[in-house]
Amino acid sequence: MNADRESLLAITRKLSVLGLNRGTSGNASMRVEGGFLITPSGMAVEHMSPEDLVRMDAEGVPQSAGKPSSEWRFHKDIYQSRPEINAVIHTHSPFATSMACLRREIPPFHYMIAVAGGDTIRCAPYALFGSQALSDAALQALQGRYACLLANHGMIAAGGTLQKAFDVAVEVESLCEQYWRALQVGEPCILSTQEMTEVFEQFRGYGNWATSPVRKA
Ligand code: 13P
Ligand code: ZN
Repeated sequence: MNADRESLLAITRKLSVLGLNRGTSGNASMRVEGGFLITPSGMAVEHMSPEDLVRMDAEGVPQSAGKPSSEWRFHKDIYQSRPEINAVIHTHSPFATSMACLRREIPPFHYMIAVAGGDTIRCAPYALFGSQALSDAALQALQGRYACLLANHGMIAAGGTLQKAFDVAVEVESLCEQYWRALQVGEPCILSTQEMTEVFEQFRGYGNWATSPVRKA
């Protein structure tokens, strides 16, 4: 359990170093025996120590001291409904959040969109942070995906491991930046369904992404 606390805190720190989260924005969790471990609520990462992470049971009841992230509901609901997901990261990273504020779905303007599990990155409708309505909206937007945007809020990235969830978060932020930049000049060209099918086939033999179950060809 201590090793789990150390790895979750290390990933949370990396998100901050890369500028994906600042201050108290965002949160992260990982599945552990009988539930999940989650970052505390309202605490900036520079003040966080391993003991501040909160252990939750599978129903979302705290099993250790501290106040769990206000977003514990969507973390819990994702683990309950997606057995292949073992880590969830939520960010207010600048470009993903900008796109989320425009309530824009990200289309297949770049082949790397496949790392999010499908041809698009959906944007979930707006709901209050920490609410069950936000969790319900997020779960729907995450259907068949490893990432989604949250309207007027940020993004969620998930994966089979903490490292994978982190890699997805970094890539989604990068894609949102590229899409934003392309939109400054014109209307980006969109890949076809057939072109994306070929991308998914190619990904089966590509690095770390090869083991992610992605859209069936
Ligand atoms: P917490 O500090 O409670 O995790 O809240 C941050 C956040 O991003 C809420 O959406
Ligand atoms: Zn948030």
